[in-house]
Amino acid sequence: MSMLSVQAAQERIHSHFKPVETETLSLAQCAGRVLAADILSSDLPPFDNSSVDGFAVKAHDLAEATAASPRTLNVVADIPAGFTSDVAIAHGQAARIMTGAPLPKGADAVIMVEDTDFNDRHAGTPAPKQVKAFKGVSIGENVRTRGMDVKTGHRVLFSGHKLRAQDVGLLAMLGVANVTVHRKPRVALLSSGDELTPVDLPLLPGRVRDSNSYVLAFMIEGAGCEVLALGIAPDNRDAIKFLLDQAIGMNADVILSSAGVSVGAFDFTREVVESQGRLDFWKVNMRPGKPLAFGEYRGVPFVGLPGNPVSAFVGFEVFVRGALDRLAGLSTTARTKVRVILAESIESDGRESYLRAVVEERNGVLSAKLTGHQGSGNLLSLVQANALLVVPAGVKSLAIGAPIDAWLL
Ligand code: AMP
Ligand code: MG
Repeated sequence: MSMLSVQAAQERIHSHFKPVETETLSLAQCAGRVLAADILSSDLPPFDNSSVDGFAVKAHDLAEATAASPRTLNVVADIPAGFTSDVAIAHGQAARIMTGAPLPKGADAVIMVEDTDFNDRHAGTPAPKQVKAFKGVSIGENVRTRGMDVKTGHRVLFSGHKLRAQDVGLLAMLGVANVTVHRKPRVALLSSGDELTPVDLPLLPGRVRDSNSYVLAFMIEGAGCEVLALGIAPDNRDAIKFLLDQAIGMNADVILSSAGVSVGAFDFTREVVESQGRLDFWKVNMRPGKPLAFGEYRGVPFVGLPGNPVSAFVGFEVFVRGALDRLAGLSTTARTKVRVILAESIESDGRESYLRAVVEERNGVLSAKLTGHQGSGNLLSLVQANALLVVPAGVKSLAIGAPIDAWLL
């Protein structure tokens, strides 16, 4: 078994994942889903409208207006938001207009109500017969013109993009009530090992709590996927086969398991998976989480992460997140990566290392400190961390003040 680089292992795994099918959802249902088609805009705003409460005017009429020598205009229309007016503004005339209301014909600017003598802004106050303008306005002032933000035909959102709050807002503005998105990928999740005990059962001597099921389920959901929780597979062929067949029956897009991938592990998973597919065991040049298994069971990709809690977490970040993003239809995996400065020196063993750290701003610089003992079973070090520092392969030590990449968690 030769040693694979992290990148080579990532590429081998990711090449087996293609986006899942699409479905059409209403806007209210599609938060966090990935678009499967580009979105073309229509003009935004859709019509010329006022950006303030005030009076629609002909700018030329107010050329001489000042506070000392105001210009009086006859108010010939009143245009609340949501209504149009057929009245065309002639010289010497104005229309009261509310924010967002369409600009009437003939007008080319809006003077803010604060710059007039009409300061009764209570709801329901009728428009005045006349208004005094205390200053001039330039043509187009306080007017949002049709298409000013976005022009018709502009591609505003792209296939492969995960919809966020602001995106669905734009879709609503455009009148897009239904969108074509990828369905949620289904991820079957199991923990393996006779020593594992669910959190709600008494712990027998020598047993440990199954924490990976909770950690990984949380991560899978965070990645926009559905968890098919299979629970704990004991070290027993029939039980493992039963669970894996359940995953197939539930139409899992991928099976994710943890533990039982290290050399010499008392492992039935290998036998069961290989009986209905294939399973490769890799050593990846990384720390934590060197052992990794990848294959397929009855045609469904199978990823076996190491069992140690920190290794499982890091393995998910490094290998599984990208695979799930591909299933979900995302065009790229978005990671919040920043360059930080080491606040302490670091020793490494030449493997690509993912170290738990706290990144914080000190004197205007992002600096990083490790969260103590980096054992792969020490989940507290991950609980205290807000970042993983990525020490490249081949690096054995880094001095205080050295720059390093950090993935913010
Ligand atoms: P393994 O990968 O099977 O050699 O397991 C490595 C270590 O991780 C052992 O100490 C296991 O008890 C522990 N471990 C395995 N699975 C889990 C799990 N689901 N939750 C917490 N610890 C686990
Ligand atoms: Mg085990």
